[in-house]
Amino acid sequence: MGIRVTLLPGDGIGPEVALAMKKCVDATGVSIDWEEQCVGAPAIEKFGTPLPQAAIDSIRKNKIAIKGPIETPIGKGFRSVNVQLRQELDLYACVRPAKYIEGTRAVNTKVNLVIFRENTEDLYAGVEFDLYSDEAKHLIKEINAVSKKKVREDSAISIKPISVFGSERIIRYAFEYAVKNGHKKVSLVHKANIMKFTDGLFLRTGQKIAEEYAGKIAFEDVIVDNMCMQLVQKPELYDVLVLPNLYGDIVSDLCAGLVGGLGIAPGANIGSDAALFEPVHGSAPKYAGQNKVNPTATILSGIMMLRHIGETDAAKRLEKAIFEVIKEGKDVTYDLKADRNDPTAVGTQEMAEAICKKLRK
Ligand code: NAD
Repeated sequence: MGIRVTLLPGDGIGPEVALAMKKCVDATGVSIDWEEQCVGAPAIEKFGTPLPQAAIDSIRKNKIAIKGPIETPIGKGFRSVNVQLRQELDLYACVRPAKYIEGTRAVNTKVNLVIFRENTEDLYAGVEFDLYSDEAKHLIKEINAVSKKKVREDSAISIKPISVFGSERIIRYAFEYAVKNGHKKVSLVHKANIMKFTDGLFLRTGQKIAEEYAGKIAFEDVIVDNMCMQLVQKPELYDVLVLPNLYGDIVSDLCAGLVGGLGIAPGANIGSDAALFEPVHGSAPKYAGQNKVNPTATILSGIMMLRHIGETDAAKRLEKAIFEVIKEGKDVTYDLKADRNDPTAVGTQEMAEAICKKLRK
């Protein structure tokens, strides 16, 4: 019996990149029983919902899942499956490595860092009140009664909750990851000079936790706007970054851009009871069904999954194989070619086959 993993192929280009990942992970020889669950657009057609309960139950049972991207239908009354999964399973840590891969058209070749984004709080917690709604009017009245700074009556309101509990668990997770994976430094990113209470709490929590790791892991704090400039100019100074939700979202895309774009950016959403691996990119509907897009981000997410389940050797071999294929630049998809119209570009499955071939050598 192999390790049971829930596989959510998703929609758009999801099923194609998920199939490529599955082929490559299977080719490592690690025995995995894939439990495939239908989510996204095909699940709406079949079950009337993009996230059937069976999919959530399967992840709860297996505790490990990997997914292709899922479209968020705009204006059809469905909530984002991605957000629902993070909330249902309390996947509080979004982990995104950003590392230069030789052969890609990276903006900066010195990037090698891992980003930890808090996934459940901050302005993304979904506590929002619309312009002129009764709730917004009520809140504005209450705020104006207690605050010296006045909120204009024609304002919509978003609340930015940052808790001790939420900050502690993401910062501790980042430190523990650094220790286990041989990293040297954690940089906490914030804007506590302006948001003294919310970002200030995140910073103070980090400073306290850092004391526990003194002598093992270095710690520093960097203001978010400065961090964006530093990452573009001197990314080699950074190792592990830990950020609240909103800054984490923006900075991780910035780093994905630095190392060559969405096609090669993997990710994971980790909670206490389940881990869900997925590429950073979306369902790119215009390319769906064309066997054209880059499977690297999803395969690298599969490598993160292998490491998570303790299959370090298989992860290393698969990483070596994919890096070799990209470096050679022959059996790669259009976006990894110097000229995007290069007729020698191969399809999604052909790139996966080339990686499998290297693994079998
Ligand atoms: P997208 O990432 O799907 O695509 C943007 C562009 O990036 C594509 O047109 C393509 O040029 C390029 N791209 C993306 N993946 C690629 C790959 N593997 N290989 C080569 N090029 C690639 O972003 P979008 O168009 O903003 O979103 C489309 C849908 O995906 C939306 O409904 C969005 O909500 C959803 N989405 C889902 C997830 C997720 O499932 N985690 C993440 C982001 C967006």
